Amino acid sequence: MRALKVPNRIHALNTLSPKVTVSRRNFAEHPSVTAKRELRKKTERQQFMDESCKGLPTFIDKLSEHKLWPLKRSSPTTLQLNVGLLCNLTCHHCHVEAGPTKKKENMAKEGAERITLLLKNTPSMQTLDITGGAPELNPHFKYLVKEARTMGRQVMDRCNLTVLLEPGMEDMADFLAENQVQIVASLPCYKPDNVDKQRGKGVFDKSMEALKKLNQLGYGTEGSKLELHLVYNPVGPHLPPSQKKLEAQYKEELDKYLGIKFNKLFTITNMPIKRYADFLFNSGEYAKYMSLLVNHFNPSTLNDVMCKYLVSVSWDGKLYDCDFNQMLDINLGAAKSHGKEGQLSIWDVDSFTFLEGTGIATARHCFGCTAGAGSSCTGAIS
Ligand code: SF4
Ligand code: SF4
Repeated sequence: MRALKVPNRIHALNTLSPKVTVSRRNFAEHPSVTAKRELRKKTERQQFMDESCKGLPTFIDKLSEHKLWPLKRSSPTTLQLNVGLLCNLTCHHCHVEAGPTKKKENMAKEGAERITLLLKNTPSMQTLDITGGAPELNPHFKYLVKEARTMGRQVMDRCNLTVLLEPGMEDMADFLAENQVQIVASLPCYKPDNVDKQRGKGVFDKSMEALKKLNQLGYGTEGSKLELHLVYNPVGPHLPPSQKKLEAQYKEELDKYLGIKFNKLFTITNMPIKRYADFLFNSGEYAKYMSLLVNHFNPSTLNDVMCKYLVSVSWDGKLYDCDFNQMLDINLGAAKSHGKEGQLSIWDVDSFTFLEGTGIATARHCFGCTAGAGSSCTGAIS
């Protein structure tokens, strides 16, 4: 006899016994069944994605064709730290799948202390680039900023803007200004509807309020040292337009209607991983998007890909070649040459100087960094 699926079983029970109504809630699946079903779905989705890319050249094929393989690192200049996945938003394009429920995935004090030590031991690291989630929600965010600034390093905060208006964050904008933290903030459009569509209802208005607050503090304004950069990523599955043109458009529109100023606009390509890969899969656009990226492979972008000079550290201290590899749990390319088969972590190294000249781990998603004009903003956005 064919096994009845849950909805049919509920229907069957309700039909047999009209006096007792069996609700879906009463008939909840055991968590292990749900987990197995989820895993099966993920595996099927992965298989489908692999199938979709079968006719396409691999990233290594493309690099070899241009005599660029293997891809090697330069001296490390940026430590990109993902302090956690806790976020006040749940954007559609989010490649780290951050959100308000990710409370446990947050870097602890010991991790933050180790990071400051490694920063100190790596003189070539000029920048501490803090990302998340919403990095400001990590309780050790201010500690990290202060320590890095005391060492004379540049600090970059990947800010989603709206977090500056959250309860408990009232002093955050002032703190960022006092410590001359560079702000890199995502704003996928200057039109409210497009921003709300990608980031959630009301996000545009809140972002504008936060930008006004930052401008009042001197961020993005003429003659000020406080840098405020915006990041554009396409709302749909296409490549970003020319950065220069779009920057001029953003500047004009935001100034004209709201009097908002900023320094630069970075344009980035949406990475076909995690939540964005789900979106592409569910809308039947995955194969088309991958072909678009592969067909627009541009070898000149390889000079500037962030994995050449950046090391990415996860909230639990693991090391990766970039934030995207971190989300896919692809081991640091240098792990093997460092004499370690598995994953390297901040507890296995004393500094990051060993990275220079080591190989980078690449995969299919790397086409997202190398299509068209490339992705100009180094890695994770918030
Ligand atoms: S995805 Fe990461 S490893 Fe791949 S090219 Fe981009 S930065 Fe480098
Ligand atoms: S994209 Fe940024 S702001 Fe949006 S959910 Fe992800 S981490 Fe949060």
